[in-house]
Amino acid sequence: MNHDLSSPIQYIKGVGPQKARLLGRLGITTLRDALFYLPFRYEDRSSTKKIVHLIYDELQAVTGKVVSADVITPNPRRPRMKLFEVVITDGSGVLKAKWFNQTYLKKVFRPGQEVVFYGTVKRNYWGAGFELINPEYELLDEDDNDFSQIHTGRIVPIYHATEGLSQKQLRNIMYAAVTASAASLSDTIPREIVTACNLPELSESILNVHFPSSSLSIDELNRGTSAYHQRLAFDELFTLQLGLAAMKKGEVQAKGIAFSPDGRYANKLLRNLPFKLTGAQERVLSDILSDMRSPAPMHRLIQGDVGSGKTIVALLSMLAAVESGYQAALMAPTEILAEQHYLNIHKLVEDLGLSIQLLTASTKGKQSDTTPGDTDIIVGTHALIQEGVTFRKLGLIVIDEQHRFGVMQRAALRKKGANPDTLIMTATPIPRTLALTLYGDLDYSIIDELPPNRSPVITRHLNERQKQAIYQLIEEETKKGRQVYVVYPVIEESEKTSLKAAITGMEALQLKFPHLKVGLIHGRMKPAAREEVMRSFKNGGIHLLVSTTVIEVGVDVPNATAMVIIHAERFGLAQLHQLRGRVGRGSGQSYCILLSYGVSEDSRKRLDVMVRTNDGFRIAEEDLLIRGPGEFFGTKQSGLPDLKVANLVRDVKLLEIARKEAFALIEGDPSLKKYPQLRNSLEHFWGKRLELFKTA
Ligand code: ADP
Ligand code: MG
Repeated sequence: MNHDLSSPIQYIKGVGPQKARLLGRLGITTLRDALFYLPFRYEDRSSTKKIVHLIYDELQAVTGKVVSADVITPNPRRPRMKLFEVVITDGSGVLKAKWFNQTYLKKVFRPGQEVVFYGTVKRNYWGAGFELINPEYELLDEDDNDFSQIHTGRIVPIYHATEGLSQKQLRNIMYAAVTASAASLSDTIPREIVTACNLPELSESILNVHFPSSSLSIDELNRGTSAYHQRLAFDELFTLQLGLAAMKKGEVQAKGIAFSPDGRYANKLLRNLPFKLTGAQERVLSDILSDMRSPAPMHRLIQGDVGSGKTIVALLSMLAAVESGYQAALMAPTEILAEQHYLNIHKLVEDLGLSIQLLTASTKGKQSDTTPGDTDIIVGTHALIQEGVTFRKLGLIVIDEQHRFGVMQRAALRKKGANPDTLIMTATPIPRTLALTLYGDLDYSIIDELPPNRSPVITRHLNERQKQAIYQLIEEETKKGRQVYVVYPVIEESEKTSLKAAITGMEALQLKFPHLKVGLIHGRMKPAAREEVMRSFKNGGIHLLVSTTVIEVGVDVPNATAMVIIHAERFGLAQLHQLRGRVGRGSGQSYCILLSYGVSEDSRKRLDVMVRTNDGFRIAEEDLLIRGPGEFFGTKQSGLPDLKVANLVRDVKLLEIARKEAFALIEGDPSLKKYPQLRNSLEHFWGKRLELFKTA
């Protein structure tokens, strides 16, 4: 039988308009939707027990013949309370099952009928026999030779149901849908790949994921690691990677700029630097330069832990663009970070005789700053890529702290200008294979080495009764001529409250340390005022900087050696790691105090991780474990399609295989001419996003 999978679900017997509406709530409107509406867990109800062998307090299945089925009134004083009671026997004993109030069951059970019950066996009131309360049940119809148990006597799928549609009704519908149409599913993955990767057939996989054959392991099913689940996960990962491969292929073929840097500015800058580049910085820079020399547009991701020295690598790349007669732009996610970058590099750039300009929403107000015109290097925020901003000859865009820019923004960015090279910098450490998914369309380099003489930040977790240690740390560090950050969290619901806390904190500290200059910086300040405070902190004019989390990323003051994080329990791991990265940037020993006020289990775990390690990759892994992949990646923000079956952490091996196959396929057939069906499902999976990529 061949069924059109786009038939409405009402096609299934027993699904009338009302049930169809309920199914619609679950996102099921067609047969195909039903096939891909997967159980979220399974129960093993496959082996039925003899009544004598039943064990108290365990979930078990049992088969028997109905002896009696009656509505009873258990308590004569409460005549309105009704119980429905069935007694069954299997020759080894008798068993009673009870349902409260469900008197309609009287019509369902008839003496002599063969039934299966599934439930927890309890001692009855007298402690002398077994009984089941509200068990799941199934009638075994002897006339039905096509013997197929759905709800009992097998590994049973459990679906997310909805009000008005019981688990059992939904399961019946799913059974009908799957048996009617799974066989007509055609495989869109090329045959060679299915064979080479040893994957089971698609239709067989759909069947078994819904109604598993009894030989499958319940644990594997529940973990989503059965061969059949993995087949479905493969399809998702493959399609995901196929989209990324197609994007990348399009980029490689696009015509970009072949830069011809001669090192005139870069060498001068390197000579003026007080340090030598690390091996990792050299290696990554040479990756970038060879991309820039090639005529294909560069799309390279640079990953490097906080403090690994990404800024200088970015600057050297920008100089290569300038040497070739182009402009370069550095784009940051926030104004304060853009301001920081500007402060950090403008002197270096100006010493080379080059021009540099800051361009953010705030500076845009000033007429003179509206157009970058001929400026060599432009530092800014999104304002850079907005309409009305025109460049003379933009050749390179560096995006810093990419975790705030999703795939979509990247695509939008590419549409701007004549295929400039793009370099994306991120300090959010994620395992390589996962990076390949999130940034699968990008080339990838990693700065896996910190500048020499950095000693790990010593971190302590304190509670409010141990506050004294904070004052002591401030005292000691400032005596040595060092500077200190005190960070207050921004509470989203009420920035005002958190600001108040920060101001009160600042005043208290000023009282405690009258001989020190205490400064305050926060997100609501005017950029000019903020810049003034940062400049003063950089010059050592301010000893103690109280801030809300505006300093989270990018601030670079190597003389600051201590950080106190107030209400550390309110921060996420990635954020804590970023914050702590503001200290430990020079050669002096640095310290971080995490002050918490009452911690939950999860926040204790987070703070423990921070105390244990400074390694961004380990912290990211722990973060992933604590939060789970969905939250960790914030897939909505990333612009990637949702994964229903595959799990980016669990299925890393599968991801690598899928990626290899997808990229090879696109290499040989970039527009999938030979596989029209696959092309369809690719477009279906990626939806509108693919459009953006195509025009990008
Ligand atoms: P991030 O990767 O977090 O953006 P930065 O680029 O801000 O790190 O660099 C952190 C600090 O390390 C800066 O003060 C920078 O001048 C310094 N730095 C960068 N590279 C080196 C190096 N090779 N040797 C010593 N110090 C370096
Ligand atoms: Mg940085």
